[in-house]
Amino acid sequence: MATKLLLLLAIYRLIVIVGLTLDHPTDLIQTEIQLSFSLEDIYEASHDFGNMITTEPSGVLHPSSTHDVAKLVKLAYESPQGFPVSARGHGHSINGQAQTGNGVVVQMSGPRGLTPRPVVNEELMYVDVWGGELWIDVLNSTLMYGLAPRSWTDYLYLSVGGTLSNAGISGQAFNHGPQISNVHEIDVVTGKGDVVTCSDNQSSVLFHAVMGGLGQFGIITRARIALEPSPQRVRWIRVLYSNFSTFTHDQEYLISLHDRLSSQKFDYVEGFVIVDEGLINNWRSSFFSPSNPIKISSIAAGGNVLYCLEITKNYYQHSDRESIDQEVEALLNKLNYIPSSVFTTDLPYVDFLNRVHKAELKLRSKGLWDVPHPWLNLFVPKSRIDDFDKGVFKGILGNKTSGPILIYPVNKNKWDEDTSVVTPNEDMFYLVALLRSALQNGDEALTLERLSNENRQVLDFCKEQNIGVKQYLPHYTTQQEWMDHYGEKWPQIYKSKMEFDPRHILATGQKIFQPSF
Ligand code: FAD
Repeated sequence: MATKLLLLLAIYRLIVIVGLTLDHPTDLIQTEIQLSFSLEDIYEASHDFGNMITTEPSGVLHPSSTHDVAKLVKLAYESPQGFPVSARGHGHSINGQAQTGNGVVVQMSGPRGLTPRPVVNEELMYVDVWGGELWIDVLNSTLMYGLAPRSWTDYLYLSVGGTLSNAGISGQAFNHGPQISNVHEIDVVTGKGDVVTCSDNQSSVLFHAVMGGLGQFGIITRARIALEPSPQRVRWIRVLYSNFSTFTHDQEYLISLHDRLSSQKFDYVEGFVIVDEGLINNWRSSFFSPSNPIKISSIAAGGNVLYCLEITKNYYQHSDRESIDQEVEALLNKLNYIPSSVFTTDLPYVDFLNRVHKAELKLRSKGLWDVPHPWLNLFVPKSRIDDFDKGVFKGILGNKTSGPILIYPVNKNKWDEDTSVVTPNEDMFYLVALLRSALQNGDEALTLERLSNENRQVLDFCKEQNIGVKQYLPHYTTQQEWMDHYGEKWPQIYKSKMEFDPRHILATGQKIFQPSF
């Protein structure tokens, strides 16, 4: 009975998809595009990490080559009715950005099929990877050559195409720039179905449009990523502050050292805000316990908010540990943290890079991973970060956060102005990430409604106070909001869309352009 139902559903979906291409009803067969209509694939493609929005596609393509992707997009572009096509990496968006209704999701990541494997060029220190490759797999393949990418995200189970469509940032960004500043070239399937190889000096308009382009201008099928000799170990340090200005002063000082020799700077600078009673239910908390148990009340003088600076020093197996100690000591001596609050650990580089996965497994085991995630990520100009602290960390957010609140500055000069990403117009700006999980455990402060309301209050506060924030991983629902988001970049965004995806086929889940059919 169940099999019959599945079959009927598959036939129904086939009719729908052929209906999308009525002028060429046999196109799908002639062009040998094998779509999947399986309930499992449709379910997967309709969901994401945010767990708040579901949109069902009519079919799913598991491509094994750039050619497969190009065939599908060409079909969508050339058929009079047209249909939307959305690339989906690992589906770790928050608001349905990789979903599409009545169209086809191209599942770029997934069980390894026939997609090209990473190819490392040791001499020129780069790796060519499939657009759906997960960063963890990129790392594993380059480590075999003693090499590794330079710029990361905190979590490695994200696809290359997915993070390059946003920017890809972590604590190395102050030094190396975001991941989009560490890509030599890409292969892209445009919204017309054309395959274009592009870079800073070849088809550069398309290259810049696609970098941070939210999937609007093309599907990245290959990326050439810059590598460096991989460190083997990491000294990972956390220090606490109760004074926000001292905390940000130290963060800004540390990132101002980006041009120094590697022995004179840290390799990673991040930070987070602690507003919880204890350091609980927080990806970052495991570091402190059980060997380093800590309670805010024992350390916070006055207010309830603490700030944690997180820094690392990478080193090689053959490095002299004593000189690493000295380098770290010299840098720490320049900082003004609470003296008794230094927490240090030493671990393999890979374990450091893959640290969030450990937390993921823990949360999964408690059923706390597949919950709604009303995340809000903002770029805040350096000049207004104090106002943001007063209004948001010490104001709007209560003393229960249910997830990490990250805060760290980056140097604007490491970002290429020509890409599609929008950042505040100051030399330094902060990433503030409210990475909260909605819980149905009876705690009113942690419901989806409550957290979403708080997010709205944060955005309203920033608007009223004219703080000049820009959303990272932006989410808007009207074109006017998108025009405001892009500001001066909007005319170029619009022009590139008309040139590379004139029928607005691609990544409709971002809700920037309505499909023209
Ligand atoms: P998807 O959600 O699958 O897609 C995102 C968008 O990109 C969609 O619009 C989709 O159509 C488009 N897209 C996907 N693949 C392609 C492609 N090949 N070509 C063109 N467009 C494509 N971000 C950071 O910068 N730093 C972090 O430290 C960080 N940590 C995170 C931790 C977790 C646990 C999670 C869930 C997210 C984190 N993110 C971080 C955000 C993450 O980078 C983005 O959500 C990213 O889009 C996820 O990649 P994905 O492969 O899951 O993309």
